[in-house]
Amino acid sequence: MPASEIALLIGGESRTAAASFERINPVTGAVATIASAASIADATAAVDAAQAAFPAWSAIGPNARRAALMKAADALDAKASDFIDAMMEEIGATEGWARFNLMLSSSMVREAASLTTQIGGEIIPSDKPGCIAMAIREAAGVVLSMAPWNAPIILATRAIAVPLACGNTVVLKASEQCPRTHGLIVQAFIEAGLGGGIVNLITNAPQDAGDVVGAMIDHVAVRRVNFTGSTAVGKIIAKRCAENLKPVLLELGGKAPLIVLEDADLDEAVKAAAFGAFMNQGQICMSTERIIVVDAVADEFAARFQAKVATMIVGDPREGKTPLGAVVDTKTVAHVQSLIDDALAAGATQLNGGQAHGVLMPAHVIDGVTPEMKLFRDESFGPVVGIIHARDEAHAIQLANDTDYGLSASVFTRDTARGLKVARQIQSGICHINGPTVHDEAQMPFGGTKASGYGKFGGRAGIDSFTELRWITMETE
Ligand code: NAD
Repeated sequence: MPASEIALLIGGESRTAAASFERINPVTGAVATIASAASIADATAAVDAAQAAFPAWSAIGPNARRAALMKAADALDAKASDFIDAMMEEIGATEGWARFNLMLSSSMVREAASLTTQIGGEIIPSDKPGCIAMAIREAAGVVLSMAPWNAPIILATRAIAVPLACGNTVVLKASEQCPRTHGLIVQAFIEAGLGGGIVNLITNAPQDAGDVVGAMIDHVAVRRVNFTGSTAVGKIIAKRCAENLKPVLLELGGKAPLIVLEDADLDEAVKAAAFGAFMNQGQICMSTERIIVVDAVADEFAARFQAKVATMIVGDPREGKTPLGAVVDTKTVAHVQSLIDDALAAGATQLNGGQAHGVLMPAHVIDGVTPEMKLFRDESFGPVVGIIHARDEAHAIQLANDTDYGLSASVFTRDTARGLKVARQIQSGICHINGPTVHDEAQMPFGGTKASGYGKFGGRAGIDSFTELRWITMETE
């Protein structure tokens, strides 16, 4: 099958750049997509187009904006088979993961549509006689959005829909690992009537990312930047935004802990841990990377968890018969393996695992992980989870917080009041009591703390992220 070609989408028009780059299917080695490699001039043109579209889009009423977004959600759903093909070919996703992505994405657009009528303000009593003082929220301007490949439809769609709902126009910088998947999203928005520069697409060759992104951050019309990706790149982007004094929302890496206390329902904890650690082969920012179990139930938990994970078989995602599909590239396989080797050399025990075949890597469970091991600290972003033994509740909390990251966490206990007490002591943006660390709903305030970033996407929190709060006074005497 010939590789699909993806052009830039600027001002609602397709534009082929002078250069191109290839995305290789990680499972088959075939060329999955040939995408335009934007130059700095192309990137600047995309921001210019978004700037030109901003006055009209920000001025239309909230109900018209809502209707447009509802149409975009339908347009996304209508492309289901294209999205499934693109995700399977570009990142080796299972069909289940692709379908889940699409389902959550269109619900995120519908949730964003509901925000358009909630962007209000308030009247604040003024000390000046006869003065009416208002705090009002207004669209910020052009938003530069950058999304990764791992949950490609969800993460790019939220980064388009929430800013649009607030009256901004958007340039999406696609991931080099899934330019076609990200391109399909922008196409869907354009087909729904959001063309003419309201949403624009930039794809770039990997070696050009720094220059292309830097030029767009520097562009005077860009008023908000958001980036979902690694903490390392997030820091580069934060620095560039700081130089330009531009607000940035950062959704970065994670090392989520799942705490199992002695009064937990162990079967529920095992189920949640297996789901959280290995959904999409552990390539989720909220993935359970550390299972912290108190000594009283550690052996029993490990035995049940080992048995559960043994049923999770890895296979070719195109055959669709196994719960685990491909890891995104062999570099990630090597990284995950190096974390495992380091832990085993330092005295940990492997409960599950096996040889990877190319990008098909079995689920690995490593017991007896300690804070000295790399597997305790470094994000694996792959199919491995460490079991860490804690003396008691206080020790479990201390271990959970002994990380640079702070995105998601879980605690398992039958005493929900105790669970709440523990949850409030964990330094993370998100914490679930008796639920998996991997959980997202469009209306929830999603985001991390510490090295997992700052700023929120979901629900009303998105309004704060993508509007300008202004103070306006009116003298009436
Ligand atoms: P990445 O940071 O390696 O790449 C993201 C993007 O950064 C790429 O598309 C690339 O174009 C760009 N980039 C690279 N160098 C750059 C530079 N010098 N300047 C500007 N841009 C540059 O991340 P990834 O591999 O795409 O995604 C995996 C990471 O994303 C993991 O750490 C994961 O935890 C995180 N993530 C976070 C969330 C969240 O919501 N918090 C969600 C999904 C993934």
